[in-house]
Amino acid sequence: MRFSRLYAPTSKEAPTGAVLASHIYLSRAGFISQVASGLYNYLPLGKRVLKKIETIIHEEMANVYAQEVELSFVTPMELWEESGRADKFGKELLRFKDRKDNSFVLGPTHEEMMVNIIRNKINSYKQLPINVYQIKTKFRDEARPRFGIMRGREFLMKDAYSFHSSTEDLDREFEVMEATYKTIISRLGLDFRVVEADSGSIGGSGSKELMVIANSGEDTLAVCDSCEYGSNIEIYMDLDEKDDEAEAPAYTNIIDLKGDDNCPKCSGKLSLTKGIEVGHIFKLGTTYTKPLGCTYLDENGKSQDMIMGTYGMGVSRLMAAVIEQNNDDKGCIWTASTAPYTVNILISNIKDEEQMAYAENLYEELNSQGVEVIIDDRKERFGFKMKDAELIGFPYTVIVGKNLVNGTVQIAPRQAEEKTEVAKEELLSHLSELLK
Ligand code: ATP
Ligand code: MG
Repeated sequence: MRFSRLYAPTSKEAPTGAVLASHIYLSRAGFISQVASGLYNYLPLGKRVLKKIETIIHEEMANVYAQEVELSFVTPMELWEESGRADKFGKELLRFKDRKDNSFVLGPTHEEMMVNIIRNKINSYKQLPINVYQIKTKFRDEARPRFGIMRGREFLMKDAYSFHSSTEDLDREFEVMEATYKTIISRLGLDFRVVEADSGSIGGSGSKELMVIANSGEDTLAVCDSCEYGSNIEIYMDLDEKDDEAEAPAYTNIIDLKGDDNCPKCSGKLSLTKGIEVGHIFKLGTTYTKPLGCTYLDENGKSQDMIMGTYGMGVSRLMAAVIEQNNDDKGCIWTASTAPYTVNILISNIKDEEQMAYAENLYEELNSQGVEVIIDDRKERFGFKMKDAELIGFPYTVIVGKNLVNGTVQIAPRQAEEKTEVAKEELLSHLSELLK
């Protein structure tokens, strides 16, 4: 890509009222732009990052036989009435009517729709298990949309649903999904914890959340210092307390208050940390299949309710989470697998023919090696270009500048303060070491 052709409207201005690094930098660096409260456009750089996250998800889901589908975003109100969730969801559910007075909702999640495509089509235990998923826009009319794409009203979710003929088989799939989610988040380069969660109003027999560790996280976690155990502090509180949570999260001392800072799984000690919920996996059992009449015939020819699991992951929220975990006072710092481009070739002076020739050559070579590269060929000052490179957060910027006449260029890794001076002939081998 050529920077001179890129649509990335960078700015010095943070959005009014923005407090989170991801909100500020993703807006300032031109990854996203706001449309209205909780509604965002993804501009070219933002779309590239989303696609990278999506690709990793698709690869890992395919490995465990999950199949991609795409269901209608607009869902008939009758399905929500059948499941009994029309009332439970309250005002988050955006309802509307078409010209013929039919009632619809914009899908905030798709359990009902998924059950609807399975019921009456899968009839026998022999056809189970099945795991189907999509990566699709969701709409929730959140009471307090905030923090940019972290809590939008329209957002991108990966939602998977599995159907089984026994609770043992659901337990097995739940473990597979947990492992898959861990692989996905590790591949994104994030530090995370899997925690025990409250199944809340959705019901079911068990649920876990995947939490990206970040000080700005809205959730408080109790995590063990010597094993993998962690739990969402929510589950220590009763529902009345939880209603107040939105107003004042005042449970920093909850472990002390409860006097139980011992890990329930080992002899370690629990301590509190903050997390961003990027995934939530549920054992639903028959919560939806029963009211919606989704049954199968068992080995004895007897009709049974299908047993179901649901596995959500916040794709657009993950993009924000990468930046919450990786940023500094200059801007975004993308992880290797999420960066919109890996290498930025910054030409200090585009009027200098030698600089131009070297940079263009390097650009072609890296492109042919399959490296995701952008060349900053804009007619702008060096300082201006460098500020953009730091704000956007490319992992490596190669500075082709005035030292080229002495035979050297510089590599500036986004994560480190130090630049490395490299002989121009050795740049490619240096870079390929770094990109390994
Ligand atoms: P939260 O407690 O943050 O509201 P939730 O429990 O409502 O999340 P789920 O219904 O489990 O979320 O949805 C699955 C995933 O979708 C969440 O783990 C989260 O990553 C993502 N998600 C939920 N709501 C939003 C939102 N408003 N904006 C962006 N991502 C969201
Ligand atoms: Mg919610």
